Amino acid sequence: MKELESCQLCEWRCKVNRISGETGICGIGIPRVVVSMLHPAPPASFDAFMEGCNFICLGCQNYPLSMLQERGKYIPPEEWAEMGVAALNSIEGRQIGADRLFFTGGEPTCSLPWVEAAALSVNAKVNFDTNGFMTEASLERILTFSDSITFDIKAFTDEVHILLTGARVGPVLRNVEYLVEHAMEKVYEFRVLVMPGLMGEAVNIARFLANLSEDAPVSFLAFRPNFVLERARGSSTQEMESVVDAARDCGLRKVDWAGMPDIPGEKEGITYFKELASQAGCYKIRAGRPRLCTCRECTMRSYAPQRRT
Ligand code: SF4
Repeated sequence: MKELESCQLCEWRCKVNRISGETGICGIGIPRVVVSMLHPAPPASFDAFMEGCNFICLGCQNYPLSMLQERGKYIPPEEWAEMGVAALNSIEGRQIGADRLFFTGGEPTCSLPWVEAAALSVNAKVNFDTNGFMTEASLERILTFSDSITFDIKAFTDEVHILLTGARVGPVLRNVEYLVEHAMEKVYEFRVLVMPGLMGEAVNIARFLANLSEDAPVSFLAFRPNFVLERARGSSTQEMESVVDAARDCGLRKVDWAGMPDIPGEKEGITYFKELASQAGCYKIRAGRPRLCTCRECTMRSYAPQRRT
């Protein structure tokens, strides 16, 4: 954990001393696990939901743990991995076909030393579930112990990515490119968010991926209104089907969609999302671009939605 004394695990490169109590954008000190559980969603697995995230996603489905409203506890990584292997070998684990340890969050990159120690301490398959904002060095390291990667892409343009997550998209797309070119066999799937009113973003991601490889596996995810975007509407079935058609037209061969479509809500689109963001926290226009505030005191982080979908 020595590297946490000047943390540069992700592209924020905060250089804070997380061991001595300083915190960077993700807000966490030593890595902590909030929830451990068998999970049937493909790939079926035993999951560690890690505390904290380096994004502040307006529509986060796991906001209690990513926004640190719910805190985890430190478990020695070897101990957690042994518990995970036992769960995979249990009757329940075998019944759902769970075959790997799965690290998610929050964003597990922020807990990389712990995840790496857990993964290397047992003989089990490993999946790393990420928003893709790690440094190149972190990505190379993750690939050495991961058998599969599930990789979320939330938008294609900086404007929309910054609005939805607080972070710029460049490093995410750079890492996508690296994975496709150097470790495609480890890509379980790219999970591309489809936001109502922002379909062009998903189609542009499809075009970007198709230009890298027509065999890039893509699962489009129907947006579900949560957290600050709780009042927005969800993606419709028709929108999901038309994005899949557009992706196939771009040349992608392994395309599907998932999620719960057609959840009712009020409005859609970037103007409405900006409005909700500005009501919830320190949403700002900086250098002519909209962006979320990433300060630790941002009221966005304590937002308490009225509904979860
Ligand atoms: S993991 Fe956290 S502290 Fe480290 S660079 Fe990223 S946001 Fe900053």
